[in-house]
Amino acid sequence: MYMNIVVLVKPTPDITKVKFDIEKGTVDRSSAELEINPFDLYAIEVGVKIKELLGGTVTAISMAPPHGEKALRDAIARGVDKAILLTDKRFAGADTLATSYTLAMAIKKLEQVFGKVNLILCGEKSVDGDTAHVGPEVAEHLGLPHASFVTHIIDISSDRVVVETDYGDSYYRLELKLPAVIAVSRPLMFRGALVEPRVPRLSDILKARRVKIDIWNADYLSDVADMNRFGLAGSPTRVVKAFYALTSTKTPIVIKGDEGVDILIKILKEKGVLR
Ligand SMILES: Cc1cc2nc3c(=O)[nH]c(=O)nc-3n(C[C@H](O)[C@H](O)[C@H](O)COP(=O)(O)OP(=O)(O)OC[C@H]3O[C@@H](n4cnc5c(N)ncnc54)[C@H](O)[C@@H]3O)c2cc1C
Repeated sequence: MYMNIVVLVKPTPDITKVKFDIEKGTVDRSSAELEINPFDLYAIEVGVKIKELLGGTVTAISMAPPHGEKALRDAIARGVDKAILLTDKRFAGADTLATSYTLAMAIKKLEQVFGKVNLILCGEKSVDGDTAHVGPEVAEHLGLPHASFVTHIIDISSDRVVVETDYGDSYYRLELKLPAVIAVSRPLMFRGALVEPRVPRLSDILKARRVKIDIWNADYLSDVADMNRFGLAGSPTRVVKAFYALTSTKTPIVIKGDEGVDILIKILKEKGVLR
């Protein structure tokens, strides 16, 4: 059995440090170092676990500026076998549709070079964009089944996967035929055990520094993709306005003691929340 596994890894800025360009309505991604999106650490870990169970290769793919390479080296230190960085000025300004299209076309290209992909893993959402669009959209571009908000990969073989998903108000147990796209949540379970992203050993970090990262530009994808669907040209989304959410300046109501519930009910009645 051989599993050709792809993990989509988004290099994201540290959200406690990143700055916003309010004028342009964009995130200034150069204002903080890029690291692996926290959800993607779980996608990487489970990808490596599936490889260890069934055999195969794990390839990480990122679409990012050149300094996104650091996140891919981190992915290699965590057990990924090879990494591809999609980087080109023509990919810039991409909304989720253009991003997912570019990633999907890179997977098609990978299949030309390394053979059929059996499983595509990604995070449920990114900590900066936070749309949770990309996984399901990649699946649509490739015509594959997908499961998102996956909290447990219960069982997997070379041709099927059984997962549990948590949509907040409902749980589903799904069986998908492979190839498929799985977008993972956290906490995440794999075959009944909790998944914890491994901490890379120093020797793995040093080894990862020497691994060649494949750099693919728009031209490299030209035989599988429509170049007009990359970057800003392929993005129907327009940011109309960006602003910092205002926090309330009102003094909070402090309720102390046993009478708290009665006071709360009175306030909620006054505000028309309760009758
Ligand atoms: C008009 C517009 C212009 C934009 N311009 C830019 C720009 O110039 N530069 C820029 O960086 N962003 C830009 N963005 C933001 C960009 O569209 C999103 O960051 C991107 O589409 C991913 O969306 P998300 O962060 O919501 O990912 P989600 O859908 O929340 O992510 C889910 C999962 O998909 C995978 N994934 C998501 N993005 C990537 C990626 N890039 N590589 C690999 N895997 C990924 C990860 O596994 C992630 O966990 C722009 C957005 C808009 C609307």
